[in-house]
Amino acid sequence: MSTSKKVLVIDDEEGIRESLKLILGEHYELILTDSGEQGLDVLANADDIGLVLLDIKMPQVSGLDILKQLKEQDPNMNVIMVTGYKSVETAAEAVSLGACGYIVKPFKSDEILEKVKKHLK
Ligand SMILES: [Mg+2]
Repeated sequence: MSTSKKVLVIDDEEGIRESLKLILGEHYELILTDSGEQGLDVLANADDIGLVLLDIKMPQVSGLDILKQLKEQDPNMNVIMVTGYKSVETAAEAVSLGACGYIVKPFKSDEILEKVKKHLK
């Protein structure tokens, strides 16, 4: 791949992290985290993240709140929300807060690959 930037995944579900790793792992370098707090911490200490995949529904702090903090911390970071079909309205709200798009679970691998390719900086 032409880019050396990494993709940061923030999702509390191990199965989703594993799926994303299977789909993206051979094309991109990934950092997998299971909470927004951990993800923000990684972002604050790394300068080679080119895209964040951010789950909306997480137990402690929601993806929407993490998105707000992330955008304060790093306004230019590209973020794609990962959402269940029940939270599609929330995903649309996330886009109005600066996310560049969203992926609805269960997702298709070609959809993920296309969106990551398009938005990875
Ligand atoms: Mg979740």
